[in-house]
Amino acid sequence: MNTQQVITRHDTTMSLNYPRFPVTMAQGEGARLTDTDGKPYIDLFSGFGATVLGHCHPDLVAAVKRQAERLWHVGNLLHTEPQTHAAEAIARHGFGGRSFFSHSGADANEAAIKLARLYGREHPGSKGPRFSILSMHRSFHGRSFATMQATGDDKVSAGFEPLPEGFRHVPFNDSSAVAEAIDDTTVAIMVEPIQGEGGVHVPDDDYLPKLRTLCDQHDLLLICDEVWTGCGRTGRWFGYQHWDFQPDIMTLGKGVGGGLAVGVMCAVDRVAELYDARKQGGVRHATTLGGNCLAMAVTTAVFEVIERDALLSHTKAMGRHAMTRLSRLAERCPGLLAVRGRGLFLGAQFEIKGDVTWFNNTAEVVQRSLDAGILVNAVQGNMLRLAPPLTIDQSTLDEGLDRLESILLG
Ligand code: PLP
Repeated sequence: MNTQQVITRHDTTMSLNYPRFPVTMAQGEGARLTDTDGKPYIDLFSGFGATVLGHCHPDLVAAVKRQAERLWHVGNLLHTEPQTHAAEAIARHGFGGRSFFSHSGADANEAAIKLARLYGREHPGSKGPRFSILSMHRSFHGRSFATMQATGDDKVSAGFEPLPEGFRHVPFNDSSAVAEAIDDTTVAIMVEPIQGEGGVHVPDDDYLPKLRTLCDQHDLLLICDEVWTGCGRTGRWFGYQHWDFQPDIMTLGKGVGGGLAVGVMCAVDRVAELYDARKQGGVRHATTLGGNCLAMAVTTAVFEVIERDALLSHTKAMGRHAMTRLSRLAERCPGLLAVRGRGLFLGAQFEIKGDVTWFNNTAEVVQRSLDAGILVNAVQGNMLRLAPPLTIDQSTLDEGLDRLESILLG
């Protein structure tokens, strides 16, 4: 099929919930993609961070092929080796704990929210079970019923009322606001270590450790949503590791599947035991295909490749390089106000003039980038986001940034 045929047939049969660009991607290798017209692109966004090792990484392809010929799925009433390997990798690089596997960031967070509710029953407040979760303005935690309520952006939940109760929002990077909002019903704080959809916001160094202290003081669970920041994206295995604390629960999505659908909810033992079917007298949470063998083989390979190829230090180096270039660009580009991020998770904030952003809006920058053969992303109207694969080499990164620079400098 050529590009137009794909688009016409898509428009006839598919849900039109995504505002797609009129481009049909056909093939990918590393940080490079080719569309059905043969036009090449440099991928500086990795499909919202999911193709963390680039497209068709040979080790991930080999892992899928090996596993595809052996075993795909048996259901979670039986054991399989790939699940165990994946859970061990997450525990080893994180804080230990126990992993529950699902298919997306939203359902990993859903698993965390349900677990927090069980914790609030086990550890009630003076008026009964604790159930409410504090999360942050501008946060994003998913689009399922509970997670869109946890999300600190009313636009996400608008129109879907009535919504589940038990979610309150406070400003990000303000631990006093969290302290003030804690009441007898509060059971958990949910936070992205670095906000992603909100516009790549890195908090002050004392923010997350202070939230940890508040959780310890009030017997709350600290849930780190690492869906964007996990699996090396920021130059550490997980985003929380930039600071000196540990969460009780972390959730993963996007990169943890290397491009396959994987979600993970990892909890410390004392909390994870509330999902222990043996101790709880039955199943408290489950999903049929979560932890299927193919997905788990790829997840394990993602961790192996990051470790073997020292991709955390590479990510830090590439991130520093990109940050230096973007900061220099900001000096020459009048509408570019600030650049921020960690590792290869980068955001550039543009000036808003009246009700339009510089350059009309950042969506126009994305369109022009696409025309120039680079994939970038716009969010919040005035933020440009870059999240290239961790495997990108400096010359490819420079080629992409050169093109972006020409667009922004006109
Ligand atoms: N959490 C964060 C921090 C996210 O950025 C996202 C998606 O962008 C999600 C959760 C939801 O993940 P998914 O789209 O896989 O459901």
